[in-house]
Amino acid sequence: MNPWRPLSGAASAALFGAEPALRRMLNYWAATALLYVAGIALLACQVAAGYSPAAPAMLLACVAGGGTLCFYILIRFSGALRLAPEVLAVLQSLFAIGCGMAAYAIAGPVRAALLTMTVVIIAFCAFALRPRQTLLLATAALLGLGGTMWRLQAGDPQRFPPAVEAMTFGYLAAALLSTAVLTGEMTRLRRRMKRKTQDLTQALETIRTLATVDELTALANRRHMNEVLQAEERRQSHRNGNGGGSCVALLDIDFFKQVNDRHGHALGDAVLREFALVARGALRARDTLARWGGEEFLLLLPDAAPADAHQVLERMLERVHALRIEGMDPERRLSFSAGLAERRSGEPFTEAISRADKALYRAKAAGRDRIEMA
Ligand code: GH3
Ligand code: MG
Ligand code: MG
Repeated sequence: MNPWRPLSGAASAALFGAEPALRRMLNYWAATALLYVAGIALLACQVAAGYSPAAPAMLLACVAGGGTLCFYILIRFSGALRLAPEVLAVLQSLFAIGCGMAAYAIAGPVRAALLTMTVVIIAFCAFALRPRQTLLLATAALLGLGGTMWRLQAGDPQRFPPAVEAMTFGYLAAALLSTAVLTGEMTRLRRRMKRKTQDLTQALETIRTLATVDELTALANRRHMNEVLQAEERRQSHRNGNGGGSCVALLDIDFFKQVNDRHGHALGDAVLREFALVARGALRARDTLARWGGEEFLLLLPDAAPADAHQVLERMLERVHALRIEGMDPERRLSFSAGLAERRSGEPFTEAISRADKALYRAKAAGRDRIEMA
């Protein structure tokens, strides 16, 4: 719908602005400008054919062309001028109806044909006006053109036979009013679709979040972590073993059942949330921590040597030790045990995780609150 598409980016930005709403309004303006150009060209043809007097036609062409340019300026600077789109649409429609009345008066035998343009004006209202406003504009157009027809047949019944004008008016009334009703219906439909699209976008966003994020801790969930691991496997296979490998670690909170038993499930949930917050704070930007299940977490450290991964886990353990949770015995120090494994070249992550799990078991058996290497 943008007739100026071939323009370069800079020229287009200067002419149409950068805001999408403004660009849309100016695109509609460009479409109406083309209609004015077509109308003026047809008027010139009528003058050439001897149907219309030259001087009034020239005057009308100048008014229509000048008015169209004025509207470009009003729309382009509507933000600074604080002109609402509805106001601009009403002004443009009234101006177009006025031009239509003048064109009808000087059109001669082809005058009935140009009334089709009035229907187009009402159809354009679907983009900016409410159904009631469109109906009011259609009525205004009908009254204006009806008045013009009345004056013409009263002034020169020979050239403008009253019966012909009356019948033309009847057709115009039917066309304008039904177009206004249809346009109103289209406006309602567009608004309903817009609302539905907004609702759907929001629902999609929620679904996307639910599909990837653990509700309690806001960490990646197991499903999403599996996707991250697959993507990491693909990335590393493309690199053909170039660059560092990855490490995975399984973390399990120590004696977590006691927290639930002594302080209740709600406080247990709060501990999980706080643990997640603190643990995430100790990670590098590229690392992913996921809730793997219950009070067990899986950490992926891409391009990390085991020594670096160990350091990250130690930092995490220190911060978890320092964690104080309201409602929990201040003497009780929170800790976790972790099993750390380096992914071997070409090895599936599931195998590295299984080795990390065995190392975690050893960490638990050795007294907990520690990191064991696979
Ligand atoms: P260990 O040091 O051997 O890991 O001991 P533990 O008590 O942490 O281990 P265990 O696996 O026996 O207990 C884990 C508990 O975590 C059992 C379960 O009720 C609790 N749990 C799992 N998911 C949730 C949850 O979402 N919220 C709460 N509050 N508790 C949970
Ligand atoms: Mg545990
Ligand atoms: Mg456990």
